[in-house]
Amino acid sequence: MGNKIKNPETIGLHGGEYRSDPATTSVAVPIYQTTSYQFKDTKTAANLFALKEFGNIYTRINNPTCDILEKRVAALEGGLAAVAVGSGQAASAFCVQNVCQAGDNIVSSTDLYGGTVNLFKNTLRMQGIEVRFADPKDPKNFEKLTDEKTRAYYGESCPNPSLRIFPIKEVADIGRKHGVPLIIDNTAAPVICRPLEHGAAVVMHSLTKYIGGHGTTIGGIIVDGGNFDWAANPKKQPLFNEPDPSYNGAIWGRDVPKMTGANVAFAIRARVVLLRDLGAPLSPFNAFQIIQGLETVAIRMKQHCANAEKVVKFLETQKKVKNVIYPTNHQGEIRDRAKRYMKGGYGSLVGMDLGSLEAGSKFINNLKLLYHVANIGDARSLAIHPASTTHGQLNEKQLAEAGVTPGYVRLSIGIEHPDDIIADIEQALAA
Ligand code: PLP
Repeated sequence: MGNKIKNPETIGLHGGEYRSDPATTSVAVPIYQTTSYQFKDTKTAANLFALKEFGNIYTRINNPTCDILEKRVAALEGGLAAVAVGSGQAASAFCVQNVCQAGDNIVSSTDLYGGTVNLFKNTLRMQGIEVRFADPKDPKNFEKLTDEKTRAYYGESCPNPSLRIFPIKEVADIGRKHGVPLIIDNTAAPVICRPLEHGAAVVMHSLTKYIGGHGTTIGGIIVDGGNFDWAANPKKQPLFNEPDPSYNGAIWGRDVPKMTGANVAFAIRARVVLLRDLGAPLSPFNAFQIIQGLETVAIRMKQHCANAEKVVKFLETQKKVKNVIYPTNHQGEIRDRAKRYMKGGYGSLVGMDLGSLEAGSKFINNLKLLYHVANIGDARSLAIHPASTTHGQLNEKQLAEAGVTPGYVRLSIGIEHPDDIIADIEQALAA
């Protein structure tokens, strides 16, 4: 039944081919807190290791609790398979490391989460992987930076602080022309944006945010859309078309569809090569926590979006607020993208410019209901003043490049009653 369900509200509760635990009939997904699994016999064990059969081997590589989470998030995104990992950062790193080796490059949007910028500008560079940055305002910027060593394009569906929605189809189409898959970080827009439907090949999430939703658990996930032919362009995707010496010479782009009957080479390689070699699995307990969040994410997103729109309307009436940043507050094509790629709302992130560093930090210090934290996507409303915290080491020029004005405050609007959220913002503005 799991695969046939289309609506996100139902997928969150029933998706992933799970009805009840086969061993105990438990309706809640059990926490399989185990490292290993007893093999039936040596032949079965050998088949599992050789990928002639699929099954549980060792929790660094797969786990039944994580498996339900993976199937549900894959269904939510309309993908074919998913791989859960220990954090959103691990998911971003694996997405790139799954297609690149030293000497290769990817082209990434300039609109990115700061942690991803560090990963791309510094750590991956040290590993010999170059990340070229393209302003997504004009999708052709991706094409201009593409060469024979470009293995992927990367962008965030709803990036902050700019909140300019990414041109998913435009960049995906350019990529497909060049044999380059588009990877989308959809952390800020689960349910309301479905990048695979617009041509992205891979979607990743920090599960820490909206999907977990309760500020308790760090996690990440990679969803394989099953819509990119990894074998079609061997020179463009060598890691999927050359024998892998670490796996008996497997050629992932050719062998995975044969072995599984499904186009899930990206997910399989991420699991059996990257999770095997680099570690970073999601713990079964954390998978369980995130499954609780997944059950209500579709409902929460509706409330997040409705509340955010009310906050935007309120902020627009406030003299002290110089500018309100929201996906639909942009003009022209950038605004049209929000209308094209978001359905059922425009997310819970709202930016506002209070004009100066002092005004921004004073506002934060006077909040009573909203929490002052470096997080987004919690059921609670959150706020941060980047210029005095996450971006505190940058000078004015660097702040401008990051799209952060000194008075910029980022709000992640929660699911409390909107009147209470607005009342707190109002009193903090007045203080
Ligand atoms: N991607 C985005 C858009 C994020 O906002 C974050 C974290 O804030 C990450 C990735 C990294 O996720 P995690 O903190 O789970 O490692």
